[in-house]
Amino acid sequence: MKTLSLILFFLANITCKDSTTVYICNSPGAKKYHNSPKCRGLSNCTYRIISIDIEKAKKDGKTLCGWEK
Ligand SMILES: [Zn+2]
Repeated sequence: MKTLSLILFFLANITCKDSTTVYICNSPGAKKYHNSPKCRGLSNCTYRIISIDIEKAKKDGKTLCGWEK
C-alpha cells in the first residue's frame, strides 16, 4: 500500500499543473518563496535555486516574494 500511495503522489505531482511546488534560493538568509524559478526575486540568488513544497516553505517561515502576482 505504501508503494501505491507513493506512485499516486508522484502522478499527482506530474499531472497537476497547479502544483504546490515553489522555488527558493537555498541560502541561509532566504525568507521568500517564489512561484517561478525565473522570478526577478531569484535573479540575484548566488546559491542554488531549489524547488520545495509550498507547505514546507511556509513551515520554514518563508513568505511569498514581493515580485509575485
Ligand atoms: Zn519571487
